[in-house]
Amino acid sequence: MSQHVNHSTTLNAIIGYPLTHTQSPVLHNTIYNALNINSLLMAFPHPDLSRLIDAIKTLNIGLTAVTMPHKEAVIPYLDHCSETVTALQAANTIIQKNGELWGYNTDVDGIEYALRQTNLTQKNVLVIGAGGAARAMGYVLQKHQANIYWLNRTPSKAQALINAFGGQAIDQRDLDNLPIDIIINTTPLGMYPEIHHSPLPNKFLRHHQTVFDMIYNPLETQLLNEAKAAGAKTISGMDMFIAQGIKQISLWQGKELYTPELEQLVRDAIRIETGKAV
Ligand code: NAP
Repeated sequence: MSQHVNHSTTLNAIIGYPLTHTQSPVLHNTIYNALNINSLLMAFPHPDLSRLIDAIKTLNIGLTAVTMPHKEAVIPYLDHCSETVTALQAANTIIQKNGELWGYNTDVDGIEYALRQTNLTQKNVLVIGAGGAARAMGYVLQKHQANIYWLNRTPSKAQALINAFGGQAIDQRDLDNLPIDIIINTTPLGMYPEIHHSPLPNKFLRHHQTVFDMIYNPLETQLLNEAKAAGAKTISGMDMFIAQGIKQISLWQGKELYTPELEQLVRDAIRIETGKAV
């Protein structure tokens, strides 16, 4: 990835805290390069959101990717919210137009892309975790009328998601008697560097299931490896990550940019980058 910076190069940002493992700069800058967009996306890790918002306005940053812990806290700073942001009360994208901040949630687009070949309607779906990513998942599952089973360490957080998107909370012991069709991991269990952790014992994995792990580093998590060994269909968090990022750039540029070639380009760039890091 070589970036040519000149006097008219504009700045984009990813904000969050910390931002040690983010691959958003690789994704964005690879696409800007490929599409001849004269911009550069840089990481701005900071815990104080109000200072980051001041910086976005002062530096006239066009696109800002927002990650933890700012996705919910950013809502009061937005001048306009998309329907999804209003429903989720969380934004992962800010587009600045004429000094106004427009909020979007492309995690939902990323999830829908990752699950584009998975029928969710009336399926029994186990969601592990109940944080921000699980919230976006709940929104998609409710839209597709899935039967949701929430499994989370902190029951009160699962209850908040049941209130918002329906379904029921379960205990790992209940899994013996539940015919689960689709398993979705929204926890960080198994993420680099703790790559030998899994959020679910492999005795619950079946060949007829689809298993989607939102983690994208590593590409093949312990959960996905065990699911594959059980004969299940597996989906990596990388599919979601790339689709949510391409959607961010599409919103900023005002046109749909997704192509399979662009997806592959980003996949290769991230593989090279994580190959260096791991
Ligand atoms: P979050 O809001 O902090 O939520 C994390 C959830 O995981 C919480 O429900 C938490 O349980 C649970 N959890 C954390 N550590 C745990 C542990 N040791 N044992 C059991 N449960 C644990 O984080 P998030 O934003 O939802 O992100 C979660 C994961 O999704 C991360 O790995 C992130 O990288 C991934 N993600 C991927 C994409 C993508 O594009 N592929 C996009 C967004 C997020 P409690 O409720 O008990 O605290």
